[in-house]
Amino acid sequence: KYPYSHRASTRWHCKPNRRLFSLTRLQHTKSDAFEVLAESYEFNEIEGRCLAFRRAASVLKSLPWAVQRLEATQDLPCLGGHTKAVIQEILQYGRSFEVEKILSNERYQTLKLFTSVFGVGVKTAEKWYRRGLRSFRDILAEPSIHLTRMQQFGFLHYGDISRAVSEAEARALGNIIDEAVRAITPDAVLALTGGFRRGKEFGHDVDYLLTTPELGKEEALLLSVIDRLKHQSILLYCDYQASTLDMDQLPCRRFEAMDHFAKCFLILRLEAGQVEGDLQRVEGDSRSWRAVRVDLVSPPIDHYAFALLGWSGSRQFERDLRRFARLERKMLLDNHALYDLTKKEFLEAKTEKDIFAHLGLEYIEPWQRNA
Ligand code: ATP
Ligand code: MN
Ligand code: MN
Repeated sequence: KYPYSHRASTRWHCKPNRRLFSLTRLQHTKSDAFEVLAESYEFNEIEGRCLAFRRAASVLKSLPWAVQRLEATQDLPCLGGHTKAVIQEILQYGRSFEVEKILSNERYQTLKLFTSVFGVGVKTAEKWYRRGLRSFRDILAEPSIHLTRMQQFGFLHYGDISRAVSEAEARALGNIIDEAVRAITPDAVLALTGGFRRGKEFGHDVDYLLTTPELGKEEALLLSVIDRLKHQSILLYCDYQASTLDMDQLPCRRFEAMDHFAKCFLILRLEAGQVEGDLQRVEGDSRSWRAVRVDLVSPPIDHYAFALLGWSGSRQFERDLRRFARLERKMLLDNHALYDLTKKEFLEAKTEKDIFAHLGLEYIEPWQRNA
């Protein structure tokens, strides 16, 4: 039931085995069959099926052996009839006709394109699609469309922020942010989270937690850091969201995409000279800098462990861990807290290890959380 416990699985790897993952990676389109199916259900707002395919993809990705016959998947969890039919198709023909149909669908293509812009969600993409818009040019030429500030910057830096961020770039940004933080509060706590903490080589952004040992000073620190980055002229965009944390509103029963900590979604300017090696660039691009998406989150120190666990991902791992807590332990876990429904009390934690211990699970390292 809990696919990550040590005993049940030495099979959860750090970096997904690319060769094996290629089972569902369609040879001629380079896209992952299950990710396409999940996305297509997401675009049609059929959440259950979307999650089912994401979970199936996670299970297959984690296998230390290649699936060569459908029978080999018999004892694997989370693979339903639909999933198996797609696996069978791929094993037999090297392609999935259902997936190909989706990929050639105009609505799918357009929503995929529109949602690739920073600040554009499925709802907005759908609205634009229904108005007959099909390309970025259509959107930008349509006078009646009001873009949010986030979307404006999403278009402005589209090329850069849709290009992967490398480990070296993430490290360079880490140094810049660390320097800014130390200059303001020498004993502040800064932690890399997200995909890079899980050992990924590339990411779509870089995520950090930032807090102070003294409770209540964390939000001011975040604002000062933003200010400093602005003065250094490396802040290209900042969407700041003040804390809305209210312990009386906790625990949240349903999984919330957003947490209540003070945070900012940034676009920063990274100079080539700051990066060991070079910037990630497309051929022929000789600029001396690129734009990178960065998330900074500032939980109060007494929520730090929960925030760290929640922001380290992966999304699928978080979903499965919360589900396990709820169903197997009668506990509610989110980015803020862990609540025991039986004892009717919050369980304190200083570290991620404490949280795993409360859940009665062996601790697993971030690199083992790449579900
Ligand atoms: P990538 O390389 O694509 O950035 P990632 O795992 O770092 O991969 P993110 O989208 O940066 O993905 O998110 C990191 C983690 O933070 C995820 O587990 C996600 O659940 C959590 N997260 C992201 N955005 C929010 C948010 N607005 N509120 C709460 N949690 C969030
Ligand atoms: Mn990330
Ligand atoms: Mn992020």
